[in-house]
Amino acid sequence: MKSFAYQKPASAQAAVGMVDPMSAAGQGGAFLAGGTTVLDLMKLHVLTPDSLTDVKTLLPAGIEERDGALYVGAGTTMAAAAEHPAFRDRAPALSDALWKAASPQLRNVATLGGNVLQRTRCPYFRDVASACNKREPGSGCAATEGVNRLLAVLGTSEDCIATYAGDWANALILFDTQVEVTGPEGDRTIAFEDLHTLPGDTPAVETTLGDADLITGYLIDLPDWAWRSVYTKVRDRESYAFAVASAAVALDMEEDTIREARIGLGGVATVPWRARAAEDYLAGKTLTEETGLEAGRIAFADARGWGHNDFKIPLGQQTILRGLMEAAALTREGTQ
Ligand SMILES: Cc1cc2nc3c(=O)[nH]c(=O)nc-3n(C[C@H](O)[C@H](O)[C@H](O)COP(=O)(O)OP(=O)(O)OC[C@H]3O[C@@H](n4cnc5c(N)ncnc54)[C@H](O)[C@@H]3O)c2cc1C
Repeated sequence: MKSFAYQKPASAQAAVGMVDPMSAAGQGGAFLAGGTTVLDLMKLHVLTPDSLTDVKTLLPAGIEERDGALYVGAGTTMAAAAEHPAFRDRAPALSDALWKAASPQLRNVATLGGNVLQRTRCPYFRDVASACNKREPGSGCAATEGVNRLLAVLGTSEDCIATYAGDWANALILFDTQVEVTGPEGDRTIAFEDLHTLPGDTPAVETTLGDADLITGYLIDLPDWAWRSVYTKVRDRESYAFAVASAAVALDMEEDTIREARIGLGGVATVPWRARAAEDYLAGKTLTEETGLEAGRIAFADARGWGHNDFKIPLGQQTILRGLMEAAALTREGTQ
């Protein structure tokens, strides 16, 4: 491993002033929170930072009511958030997505700030001997013609088909969320839906964060019907595996009729994905197997398979149907 400087500033503001912007090639500086992404990629030589600025204990941790919304500190661990009653009782999709992610050891150290910024698990990104426009701009994409079974079918480009790997972000995107950021220019907020950017012809640019911007927390506006929400995750084995396809679903229902549906997709797209056309179709419909499947078809209407991952299109459609049915079956006391 290349040697690097470890810096421990006294405050989040000091950290912002201390970190050098990291280049696409992985040099410069980086924030260190739980370290479960950044240290992993350093061991693979995918990232070779000159310095790590440790922010873990500087970030707010915990979940509380604030201004009629739910405030979540970026230093909150995945484990603490997963078991917090505010998530479990008021928006189970947010809790499920965390329980179904990674392992207990990882959830105990990983933070929600680092979580949304985790990097793709595309095997070509993680292998420095392969061409990857995300890791080395202009080098090409070995995945489009390679083994792409686990890669994306939505939001792709000829330059990149890397899947956004995280779970929680696909549930968070269901709810109007402001990301609180402190940076060299001071504090600001970014709508969560605007945080991640499609790969297009610049796959190395993954977010709208500036160099040295630090996420400090999230303000989540939960509708009072968010208790009817689930995170359905399909994976190659039942635990400790990334999603092959997932659907976060929240439903506002009157009897069998859907007033409003919200659908977030994971494992199939290059960024956390909101299936808005499918949501529009479902509004005012009775939920049946037929309308659920049609919502799935609409959600994947613009999908493109790349060979090995063609199966993700029907799988993703079925995952939406399953998520809708699981959400509809919830009662305030739990599953029927
Ligand atoms: C074996 C394994 C299995 C996993 N399985 C899953 C899974 O099934 N589902 C899932 O969702 N995830 C999974 N993960 C990913 C894991 O959830 C993430 O690695 C973790 O959430 C990242 O959080 P962290 O605090 O460790 O981030 P770090 O590794 O410390 O940081 C991640 C990135 O974000 C930057 N950063 C960190 N905090 C901030 C901040 N506050 N503001 C700005 N930048 C910041 C860092 O510089 C770095 O670039 C898995 C990871 C591993 C190693």
